[in-house]
Amino acid sequence: MNFRAQIPNSFSLPRRIHGLANLAYNLWWTWNVDAQRLFSRIDPELWEQTYHNPIKFLRQVPRPRLNAATNNRYYLEFYDRMLRLFDQYMQPEQTWFSSAHPELGDKLIAYFSMEFGLHETLPIYAGGLGVLSGDHAKEASDLGLPFVAAGFFYTEGYFTQYISDDGWQEAEYNVQKFEDLPVTPVVDSDGMPMMISVELPGREVKLRLWEVRVGRVPLYLLDANLEQNSPQDRALTARLYSSDLDLRVSQEILLGIGGVRALRKMGYEPVVWHMNEGHSAFMVLERIRELMADGMTFEVAAQTVREGNVFTTHTPVPAGNDEFPLWLVEKYFSHIWPQLGLDRDKFIDLARHTVSWGEMFSMPALALSFSAARNAVSELHGQEARKMWAYLWPGRTEEEVPITHITNGVHVGTWLARRLRHLFDRYLGAEWMEHADDPDVWELVNNIPDDQIWEVRLHLKRKLTVYMRERARQRWKSGSWHPIQAVAAGVLLNPYTLTIGFARRFAPYKRANLLLTDIDRLLKILNNPERPVQVIFAGKSHPDHEGGKMLIQEAYRAVKKPESGGRLAFLEDYDMNLARYLVQGVDVWLNTPRRPNEASGTSGQKAGMNGVLNFSVLDGWWREGYNGKNGWAIGEDLDYADPEVQDMADAKSLYDQLENEIVPLFYQTRSSDGLPGEWIMRMKESIRTIGPQFSMRRMVKEYLERLYLPEMKGERPEESESARH
Ligand SMILES: *Cc1c(COP(=O)(O)O)cnc(C)c1O
Repeated sequence: MNFRAQIPNSFSLPRRIHGLANLAYNLWWTWNVDAQRLFSRIDPELWEQTYHNPIKFLRQVPRPRLNAATNNRYYLEFYDRMLRLFDQYMQPEQTWFSSAHPELGDKLIAYFSMEFGLHETLPIYAGGLGVLSGDHAKEASDLGLPFVAAGFFYTEGYFTQYISDDGWQEAEYNVQKFEDLPVTPVVDSDGMPMMISVELPGREVKLRLWEVRVGRVPLYLLDANLEQNSPQDRALTARLYSSDLDLRVSQEILLGIGGVRALRKMGYEPVVWHMNEGHSAFMVLERIRELMADGMTFEVAAQTVREGNVFTTHTPVPAGNDEFPLWLVEKYFSHIWPQLGLDRDKFIDLARHTVSWGEMFSMPALALSFSAARNAVSELHGQEARKMWAYLWPGRTEEEVPITHITNGVHVGTWLARRLRHLFDRYLGAEWMEHADDPDVWELVNNIPDDQIWEVRLHLKRKLTVYMRERARQRWKSGSWHPIQAVAAGVLLNPYTLTIGFARRFAPYKRANLLLTDIDRLLKILNNPERPVQVIFAGKSHPDHEGGKMLIQEAYRAVKKPESGGRLAFLEDYDMNLARYLVQGVDVWLNTPRRPNEASGTSGQKAGMNGVLNFSVLDGWWREGYNGKNGWAIGEDLDYADPEVQDMADAKSLYDQLENEIVPLFYQTRSSDGLPGEWIMRMKESIRTIGPQFSMRRMVKEYLERLYLPEMKGERPEESESARH
């Protein structure tokens, strides 16, 4: 390789523990919960104040604290043990991949995504898509896949959410300083910053590269915030998902075309190119252009490029699928189509999508047409995707549309509570994480004594309660809060009450207000004196989306009602940190999408493997995960023609089951030991079934075997009849 990513030498650490600097710059610590304690033990308060950011932490931690650690025999033993684990991880004798496919170690997979959700300190994600990318990269590292990833360094990250006392979402953007983040500049062999450039109309935009170490996997982030660029161009990589079309198409050009150039410049030669969602689909054009510059015709180049490409579609909601009007495409691509030997019409044909109001250039269509392997993210989503994109394969029936499905999963090390991990270490065997996709290993959950698993559950609920109160205290101290906001932030919640969590993006199809359909019936459920119930809401709306913000307001107004008795809460600023507290700390995880719009969903998988029982519509992953004993289904396994009928039926099913099943079961305790035996049985059933089936390990192995390997082995079958091109 012709580059380096240099860790700045910016901490003054005692020699004995100077390995903490290396550790801070590799996100391995984010999914090795014990390693986090290497930082937090030195100064727990500062660890919270810096929001679990080891770079800031190590820079600010007072010297006496560091000295105290180096004088503490227990700390040093713990330090030595953790660093040994880290070294073994980074220099393995063997990985799963190197044993399974020893001959394919040099066949590189490149993975492109608009967002990566790796940890709360690196705010380059908005929601589920980003968390999936982050989890995918972590698992690729764990399995030892030859894998490199590309995305953006967003100068302002995603926004911080505040809720006004009237329930209105306010967005605050904070400028991220790279010195504070676990990113290192990529420099060439002379030590100069490595740069690439991409043409936009009338100018060249320069991009610099940052490296993030995700265990063994490098992730490269493109950054346009450079003095060489105009102020407008510097802002191109400032924020995620702008609604401004010019900005959006420019960003996607930078990701697709710039991403390919960045990997080339560093000397990477991937054989598989995975587009995670359509945002990066312009990579197709850059790779065809490269091959044509080497003398291939467009047709041959297109076929070659297609063979190496993999595309994953993530939503059946039309608004979630990126499309650009043709005037915009002309503005940005008229200088490119001659390079591809195409005229305007032929170029637009690459991704033409005819809709009721005219013609659009569709990013998923571009990606689908130029990939050899294509997948949706759950079985039901596969059906929807084949319906949605059937027009790209005229002459085929819907079943014949070549889009398969691989259901999403989550990275167990990232999402499983530390206490549960230790409990599983004891009962599932020390090596269980290496076999997290093996149902036989998870069978052993049945051997965990009820009192032990219940004790962990109570601990996690208390931890969530304490955390909510502490957050509320800090906000109260800031002096900008009306007292009612402290109530809304959950200070009246009781850690021994049945607690339901609902946290996700506030998009209308997610129906956050379904639970509020019959408010009187809900209040009766909440305020039952013997068997009270409480509900915690959290989630962001896209900052330009009034409909989503109004849904938040509707929820917040219900939360503030005195009649709710403080048993409803809305927590501000849902992010990966809050997500961890919630998916580990509530009893029931509620999800109410309007089927079939939830392509997969993953938060319920995180909850389920923590023994939190899912109570969800049979959409996305839950349609496959639900077995009648590991949670509850809202509504039936069927589609509705009329959304109003659907909403009424689902609301009724929701209330009926809460009243008749879920609440009684939670409060029904055995006389012998006072534990809710039936509930605990369901918890174990949830962990046992959801753990293996929806682990990221199962998912990445499936991607490897079904989508990546055929190309890595050079066995991609020729498609008898490809999409229109
Ligand atoms: C897991 C996660 C999501 C995805 O959740 P779904 O609503 O199930 O798609 C979104 N945001 C954050 C912060 C998450 O951790």
